[in-house]
Formats: sequence, structure tokens, C-alpha cells
Amino acid sequence: MKIKKFSNKPLDIKDRIGAKPVVCYPNNNIADDNLVTLHKARENLIKKKEITIDPRDAKTFEVRRGDFFRIESIEGPQVGDLNLFQLNNLDEKFYSGKTRALYGTHLSVGDKMFSNFPYFRSLATITWDTLDWYDYDEDGGSVHDVIGTRCDPYTSKLLSGNDYHFCCHSNLTRALVKEKKLEINEAEKLVHDVLNVFMCTGFTNDTKQYFMKASPVRPGDYLEFFAETDLLGVLSACPGGDCGSGHSSDEAKCYPLKVSIWSVDQKYLKYIKQSITSTYNKKHGLG
Ligand SMILES: [Zn+2]
Repeated sequence: MKIKKFSNKPLDIKDRIGAKPVVCYPNNNIADDNLVTLHKARENLIKKKEITIDPRDAKTFEVRRGDFFRIESIEGPQVGDLNLFQLNNLDEKFYSGKTRALYGTHLSVGDKMFSNFPYFRSLATITWDTLDWYDYDEDGGSVHDVIGTRCDPYTSKLLSGNDYHFCCHSNLTRALVKEKKLEINEAEKLVHDVLNVFMCTGFTNDTKQYFMKASPVRPGDYLEFFAETDLLGVLSACPGGDCGSGHSSDEAKCYPLKVSIWSVDQKYLKYIKQSITSTYNKKHGLG
């Protein structure tokens, strides 16, 4: 947030600012034909299971490789905070920072949710998004961000002095404790920066601060994923509700979210390119 300027301008300022932006990570070579196959496959989905996540709470769910899952708005506009893990190795989890560096601030159809190092592979591909029409609005805002980490009691305490226990960070922690029988400190360390499902956010034009606005999501809207490995998902129904005013308190009107798991006959997935962990040799210049 650079508003005040303390230093003097250099004499060669014209040579030093305004260079042409270069995309850091051109992502063309990670595109594949999977989406064409997945769009055919998704016409034949069979529902296996669904769970409802109560407002200001979170639940875990498992998805087998080759299945699809959807996060759906059911009763009113509601934002969800999603964590994803490799089911059998919770050390491998969604890496929002590098996914953002690859695809930009907000995700939609065709984008892959990459895992952390040293695994670094697509955990899931987004296959459908009923809010893709929103695109970017005139404030630079859009939905499904990978810029906002998750609401948490530590920042809330820092900024308001209050102890609030139903932020997404705590909800995700609680779900891992209750449903996976982990210790609190063990579970809390596993919670990672989320995909903010349905949340409408951006950076302000002047100060470049993170902003949110009321989500355009309505009951019936959903975001759909294809699982590229066996997954443990954890989804929190954010205490901010549609995140149009505040969060980290009980003030906002909140609604439940639905997660549904879908399977498809494997014949539809014959041409899918498998997602494998990174083949980098991991020597880091040490031999
Ligand atoms: Zn939240």
C-alpha cells in the first residue's frame, strides 16, 4: 500500500519505470486435451453422495480419482473456503500461490489446482462454473479467488481485539480434528490457503488492497471439479455469508453449502492424460 513516498525520485526515472510487463509463467504448455474429454464425460455423471455443510462450520469429504465433485449454493448466497489434500498423504495439499502465479487471481473452467512442492501436480481440474459469465467487473473483481488466504482468528484478533472461533481457518481445523481424529495443533498446521469458492474479490485500483463485494452466487449455482488423484476435501461455509459486508463475526446472514460427489463410467475417461508428481530430480544443485 504505497501512498506516502519518502525517497527522492532518481534522475533517470524515465528509464526505470514503465517497462513492458512480461507474463511470468506462460501456461500454454500445461494445457491439455483433458477438458474436451471431461466435458463429454460430465454429460454422463451419476451422483454417488452429497453432504450439507452448515453455516459457520466445515466438513470433510473424500473423492476418488476419476470422480467429479460439485460445490453448490442451496439456500442463499454463500461463500465457501476449500482445502484439498491427497487422501493418503496429507503433506500434499493445494498450493494457492503457485496456482495463482500460473492462472491469475481467480480460477474458472480448465484451470488446474496444483499441489505444493515437491509433489507439484494437478490435484483437480475445474470442469464447470455456472458463474463464468461474471468474468471481471469494472472494479477488477471476479469470483473464485486464490488471493485471499482464508478468514482466521489471528487476523481478527489483530484488527479487532476479539476472539472469534468460527472463521474458516478454525472451521477447517475443527473438521479435521472431529472427522479425521487429528490433534488440534496437528490439524491447524495442515490448513492451507484456500480457493475462495463463489467469493467476489479483487484489489482496489488506488491502494491495491484486497477487497470483497457481495457474491453474485444464487441457489443452483455450482463449481465442478474432476479429481486427478484420490482427494480429501474440506469445505467451510464462511461466516461472512455472501461476503458483501463483513466476516469474522456472527453478523452476516449465512446459508449452508452442498458438496456432491459424482462418478462416470471409465470408458469416458480413456483419453485422459494422467496427473503425475513433478519429475524434477530434487537435487537442488547439490549433486
Ligand atoms: Zn471465511
